[in-house]
Amino acid sequence: MTHMLLHQPAAGILFITLLCAAFFSSNAMSAFDDRTLTVVNSHSWKPFAFVENGKPKGLLVDYWRVYGEVNNVPIQFVLSDWNQSLEHMTEPGRKVHAGLLYSSSRDHYLDYTLPLFEISSSLYVLNDSDELKIKGILPGMEVGVVRGGYEEEYIKYHYPEASVISFNNNAKLIESALNGEITRMVLDTQVATYYLSQDPDLHRFVPIESLYTNMIYAAVSEGDQALHDEIISGIGKMPEVEVARIEQKWLNTKQVFTIPNWVLPSVLTVFAIVALSYIFLLRQIVRRKTRDLKALNKTLEEYAFTDSLTGLLNRRGLERKFESKQVRKLMKHQQLALLMIDLDYFKKINDKLGHLKGDEVLVSLGKAFKHTLTEGVAIARLGGEEFCLLLEVENQRQLDVLMEYIHRRLIPSASQHEVGLHVTASIGALLIDTQKTDCSLDILMHHADQLMYRAKEGGRNRVVTQALSSKAAQPKPLCVAS
Ligand code: GH3
Ligand code: MG
Ligand code: MG
Repeated sequence: MTHMLLHQPAAGILFITLLCAAFFSSNAMSAFDDRTLTVVNSHSWKPFAFVENGKPKGLLVDYWRVYGEVNNVPIQFVLSDWNQSLEHMTEPGRKVHAGLLYSSSRDHYLDYTLPLFEISSSLYVLNDSDELKIKGILPGMEVGVVRGGYEEEYIKYHYPEASVISFNNNAKLIESALNGEITRMVLDTQVATYYLSQDPDLHRFVPIESLYTNMIYAAVSEGDQALHDEIISGIGKMPEVEVARIEQKWLNTKQVFTIPNWVLPSVLTVFAIVALSYIFLLRQIVRRKTRDLKALNKTLEEYAFTDSLTGLLNRRGLERKFESKQVRKLMKHQQLALLMIDLDYFKKINDKLGHLKGDEVLVSLGKAFKHTLTEGVAIARLGGEEFCLLLEVENQRQLDVLMEYIHRRLIPSASQHEVGLHVTASIGALLIDTQKTDCSLDILMHHADQLMYRAKEGGRNRVVTQALSSKAAQPKPLCVAS
């Protein structure tokens, strides 16, 4: 068998030597150093090794190119007829057979290294009803194979009576099959599939029997232990992902995990949408919380400036109102009156009728002041049974009329009507000529308070009115009404 493999006549003169160790330097195409590794294989063993447009191509070519890059070894490809590729291995030099099946006959002149890729072979038969009727290979039956190929060895061993017709390479074998010269041939399944995918004519042949499945190995010349070890070590450094990628490229068998191009943009888009939605939601929440907080602040503010019993302003509310733009503006064009109203003998009401009744009186008066006095700029309860009113008035006369109304009508009738009690009050009324006066609320209240006390001292249930017309002036009593 060895003899046969080694001494098959080298039919055909096509011998292609390609120097492609052009990976490490610009002049590498012509570079050839001691380390250059000659990689031999077939020139028409698609998709494993073949020549196209004068260039070596195929799975094994890609594989050994990567080997050269990874191991920093210049690579030169010598692709020829299959039989010649085997003969090369008997000649001296740093040579490696790119990949072939193991057979004991080849083992005589080759040292196998490591398995690289899986390959299987099938019997292909012309898709013709007569031919298809005959299963397998009968004695005397013509079967096409590649000369020196493992298929030839296999058929001769397993079907010794078959009539083997050898061709220099796969291309020639397939060509003669398509020309109708042979109706049966043994082809590597991967090779047949590759040719089939390129030549629809080949569908005239169908695989009817799978013959074997084996690994192809890289092999060096028998006895070259150093190169044998170097190749084993070099193969060990081959990146697995890269090898899988090469296998996927040529055989479409392995699923190489790669992230499709659309994944990254999609992930980024989804991330952006989620992030934007999150920011949007966050902003909505912050906006709502801010609104709630403002409302709460406003409520708290109202509490802080409001008298809880009557709903009127409290002392602080009055101060704020006095400082407001509205009052400041009024003071530029308008006279104002500040009233201090203290109910008479209120303690007695509480004592006789109870605190709640007293509260009712305070509430009823608060309502009356608020709803009746259209001149009211600020109406406050300062505490206890004491009210303070800031009113818009045009002149002393209008103030007198207003005081008459509040004192005589509003206070007694509101309490009478709402609570059934006739309540009176002592009132200090300060007329402020805002054009001439620039006093603080405290001072104004102090003056009004004094007037109110004068009313008390005068016997209660009366109004003491004064005008305050100069900045630091003490108010002059104008009149006391009882
Ligand atoms: P005067 O004529 O001198 O003003 O006599 P008065 O009794 O009105 O004055 P005094 O200052 O002696 O009493 C005020 C009373 O007001 C004492 C207190 O019981 C009562 N008072 C204070 N705050 C409230 C309140 O919120 N509700 C009620 N019902 N009574 C209150
Ligand atoms: Mg009082
Ligand atoms: Mg009182």
